[in-house]
Amino acid sequence: TAFDGDDSGNLKPRQTPGVLYSKAVPTPVKKPELLAWSEELAQQLGIEKPTDQKDVDVLGGNHVAPSMYPYAACYAGHQFGNWAGQLGDGRAITLGEWQAPDGNSWELQLKGAGMTPYSRRADGRAVLRSSVREYLMSEAMHYLGVPTTRALSLVSTGDQVMRDMFYNGNPAFEPGAIVMRVAPSFLRFGSFEMPAARQEKENLQKLVDWTISRYYLHIQGENRILEWFKEILERTAALMVEWMRVGFVHGVMNTDNMSILGLTIDYGPFSFLDDYDPDFTPNTTDLPGRRYAFGKQASIGYWNLGCLASAIAPLLPGTEELVAVLETYSDSFHEKYYAMMANKLGLEAVQEGDQELITRFTDALYTLNLDLTIFFQQLMELPQEPGTEAEVIALFQDSFYRELGKEEQTTLFTLLQDYATRLNANTGSREETLARMQKANPRIILRNYLLHQAIEELERGENTLFQKLQAAMKDPYSRHFDEFFAKRPDWASQKAGCSM
Ligand code: AMP
Ligand code: MG
Ligand code: MG
Repeated sequence: TAFDGDDSGNLKPRQTPGVLYSKAVPTPVKKPELLAWSEELAQQLGIEKPTDQKDVDVLGGNHVAPSMYPYAACYAGHQFGNWAGQLGDGRAITLGEWQAPDGNSWELQLKGAGMTPYSRRADGRAVLRSSVREYLMSEAMHYLGVPTTRALSLVSTGDQVMRDMFYNGNPAFEPGAIVMRVAPSFLRFGSFEMPAARQEKENLQKLVDWTISRYYLHIQGENRILEWFKEILERTAALMVEWMRVGFVHGVMNTDNMSILGLTIDYGPFSFLDDYDPDFTPNTTDLPGRRYAFGKQASIGYWNLGCLASAIAPLLPGTEELVAVLETYSDSFHEKYYAMMANKLGLEAVQEGDQELITRFTDALYTLNLDLTIFFQQLMELPQEPGTEAEVIALFQDSFYRELGKEEQTTLFTLLQDYATRLNANTGSREETLARMQKANPRIILRNYLLHQAIEELERGENTLFQKLQAAMKDPYSRHFDEFFAKRPDWASQKAGCSM
């Protein structure tokens, strides 16, 4: 069982000092059925699509092959800025490591497969809603080119899971599901914070050495811990910039949800932005503080790196150099950020005055409530000689969530004129500019209201929209799925992403 009794006979979550993981076996479910399968990922892994019930049983946690050694990882974390102590995989069980034909190895993990020693007071299960969200979104992020964990399969369990979030405290049951998620490693910042907090220096050293030798092979020698930290910092800054490029809000950037490999991990109440709003958070438990709002993600990345730095500090002779590395974050982030924005705008390089121009764009997106994705698609259609104000405003019409006032129209028009002038400084061809923009600006994002609709359909046993979205998200930079190239409709507001 996941709980130990204390003297009073009350149950408390099991503490596991001295260990980095615990054995955990999936709890069988009623009737595992395959709902979705990522064929491209399967091919990369060299895994064949299930043909019989026995294979599906593995994906549903009903069968553990003799070669598997299932376990749950022990980690800790800072949640919403506070030290939360031991957390661990409460509903994720790693089945083992899989060697792909190309020689790369992957951790195969079932999310929602039942209780582990780290389940605390929860059930170790996941509902269909959250599983569909993780399955579709992690694959969508992959095809957008954003570093992420992957999802191989989605299985419905045939069991009902109790969740009490919708009906004013009355328990509501929802269909259960299990995702097999896949990554080179699911190690988090919190994995290192755990042995550090317990002052288990030997375990900490072993974990760091192991992580470097397995996932950061190129880093060797005396200075390796500092160099490793620098690379994690670079990857984290790069990830924040990628999230900003596509308008992704994670929603729960606790240190236990920060991948040591710089991947997007632990999909919960995430959302894409429709209208651009740095203050937007899809996480209703993060109101009114909005710690993890879209526009705060980059600085939270830095804060979280600070926690990681504290965790690994005992392995270094002093903290001076570590702090110096940490302090490179701001420059590193800003350089990547402006380069990314320059790509979105089609600028060949960031020149004097460009930072100001970029800020004028983000200010306009925010104050005029423009749709981030649609706006940049239309920007590619702006003629080199923009034409009249009325013509230009008409071109951008589909990215408006409200009518713009006269002054607002002029602000936008002037910005676009200045932008068109700035583009003349490019030395390459118009085609090259457009190619640069096309790579940086997705046409199709998995909008929250679409996900929501697809889930409602699935709960009714229908998968038409789900299938369509699954196909569209694989080709997000093309025009092949323009039925999803539209702003959020009026009836759906930009709101909570829903997790659990
Ligand atoms: P999250 O905020 O989703 O990253 O979760 C924080 C911690 O709670 C992690 O250690 C999770 O494994 C755990 N957790 C979340 N949901 C459940 C659940 N239904 N059952 C057991 N543990 C859970
Ligand atoms: Mg988590
Ligand atoms: Mg979670």
